[in-house]
Amino acid sequence: MLLQIHEPGQTPTPHATERGVAIGIDLGTTNSVVAIAAGETPEVLRDENGKALVPSVVAYGEDGSVEVGEGARRRLLDDPGAVVGSIKRLMGRAAGELKHLGGTLPYEVEPADDQGGMVRIRVQDRRLSPVEVSADILRALRARAETSLGQTVTEAVVTVPAYFDDAARSATKDAARLAGLTVLRLVNEPTAAALAYGLDKGAEGLYAIYDLGGGTFDISLLRLEKGVFQVLATGGDAALGGDDFDHLIAERFLAERKAQGLVHRPSIGEAKQVLAAVRLAKECLSTQERGEWRIELGGETSRHALDRATVESLIRPLLARTLSITQSALEDAGFRPTEVQGVVLVGGSTRLPLVRRELGTLFGREPLADIDPDEVVAVGAALQARALTRGEGTLLLDVTPLSLGIETMGGIVEKVIPRNSPIPVAMAQEFTTYQDGQTGMLLHVVQGERETVAECRSLGRFELKGIPPLTAGAARIRVTFAVDADGLLTVSAEEKTTGVSAAIEVKPSYGLGEDEMARMLRESMEHAQEDMERRLLIEARVEAERVLLALAAALKAEGELATPEERAQLQNLAHEIRKAAAGADRDLINGLVERLEETGRPFAQRRVDRALQGALAGHRLDEVEADMAPDARAAAGSGSSGAARTSSRVPAAPRND
Ligand code: ADP
Ligand code: MG
Repeated sequence: MLLQIHEPGQTPTPHATERGVAIGIDLGTTNSVVAIAAGETPEVLRDENGKALVPSVVAYGEDGSVEVGEGARRRLLDDPGAVVGSIKRLMGRAAGELKHLGGTLPYEVEPADDQGGMVRIRVQDRRLSPVEVSADILRALRARAETSLGQTVTEAVVTVPAYFDDAARSATKDAARLAGLTVLRLVNEPTAAALAYGLDKGAEGLYAIYDLGGGTFDISLLRLEKGVFQVLATGGDAALGGDDFDHLIAERFLAERKAQGLVHRPSIGEAKQVLAAVRLAKECLSTQERGEWRIELGGETSRHALDRATVESLIRPLLARTLSITQSALEDAGFRPTEVQGVVLVGGSTRLPLVRRELGTLFGREPLADIDPDEVVAVGAALQARALTRGEGTLLLDVTPLSLGIETMGGIVEKVIPRNSPIPVAMAQEFTTYQDGQTGMLLHVVQGERETVAECRSLGRFELKGIPPLTAGAARIRVTFAVDADGLLTVSAEEKTTGVSAAIEVKPSYGLGEDEMARMLRESMEHAQEDMERRLLIEARVEAERVLLALAAALKAEGELATPEERAQLQNLAHEIRKAAAGADRDLINGLVERLEETGRPFAQRRVDRALQGALAGHRLDEVEADMAPDARAAAGSGSSGAARTSSRVPAAPRND
């Protein structure tokens, strides 16, 4: 049991007594910040030098010691093998997802023991998961809060990028739990920044959160409506930030040295030192017009004059990229820049005056910069923590970062929940069986923007069993996708005539990184045309297969109704179709299928006539028609048991529960 000590005359709120203070944590890639909102104004917690930023860097000593923050970052220069940084990029990721990071991480990354599990990193002789490293950072932040408050802290609101997927979010929660913190809620970083500005209390409207940090750029569009915050769209570049500006300036300095005849080639360690010096120069020029810097390498010293205008001309192309990504996000959400009511600056690199000018031009208004862009996310998290402990949580909504769908015949993806749908959300679509008497259906849940399963990410599979054996296309299987407020997806399927159902909670064992997501989005746009072509070809083949199977079944059952001539013609066409389906000429396949259907029409008509004669006795005509109407999508068995789309080919109207 904890005893709380209070200043004389100070009475704690009842909640504070019961629950203690909950802290707000911005767990960043480069830097982290912790804040509290116990009294009226939120407070960022600083070290003895007044610094709020805690470098998200952990040093592991041979003796088992763990150091977090500035000290660990300093050790990066002389003992890089013992130091871990940028761990946030690995949260929730499997080994297969790291190729794009290759060479940029200064430590060894290994696959997990379990297949598809989160990667491990090797430091000293330890094997650590990103969750453990993040937990070390969180522990340090928690300790800073406890020292400053003089009491134990067990609850926190932790922020995550808006694009973080389920795996990365649960990894973050796990890290907090390891650090002894209960996560009251994970809040999106842009949402936290908006909360810090009190936008939730202000005018309704559209807000843009522009976050340019050390290694990443993120843009988010939030809409505030009736007290509800909603992330409308997100975009960004996981490899664009202040570090890139540093590289450009460093290259310039090194070129100047060369021009002066200084030939010493910097080692990797020296290059890091140059970058550190350049970074200071860059930061300095955000407030100062010009300056001169000295670089000493291999005993050769050079001097470099640099002014703000030169820095700006160097970085302008990179900034232009962030602006075009911003414009795409706006287009995605269907808004013009001038419709944005406020632009919030987040991240150290937004201190660059050029960033503010360019944003001012794009949006036609000055960006909001009253709150330190390094601290704004933590402040928002602290405000949310206070609101939640007082039971007055703002309703925060989020969106699905990528589309969610089901695999249908031919490896095609049928999207059920489109990307950027606000969560919580539930949407349903109807599917049907592909073969006669099919009693099971394999449902494959995928995530992504592309048209084919091969290019999307597989989230899980499950089987619906006990479907009544009906004609192909007759069963009505309603598949419902539900994403809850924590971003967790549940998929359920129900056969409507019998009520047979099956469900799966989809929890990927590892996450999808923002790089991969950005890539998937980019590719989906680049390949839209090609995808559509391929989709149409696959559909043509599936249709051809269906028609051939149906023909074979019909000839087998009632072949005597076809004339020998018809039979020969049909078999001939079937042979041609089989040949065409092996190729890639969609029009040829479709044309042959059409011809086959035409040729077979008299035969089909005779079959319908016979069936009607047999079935009419004792039945009303409309009833019979309903049973007998030849279904455009009805198919004979092919041995497969995938989902086929409903016969109308029009998905059931999405339901919003
Ligand atoms: P992250 O979001 O990746 O954790 P931060 O938001 O802490 O990163 O931003 C770090 C970046 O901000 C670094 O590249 C740093 O050089 C840059 N930065 C910090 N202060 C300034 C400044 N005054 N002018 C320009 N860039 C700055
Ligand atoms: Mg940041």
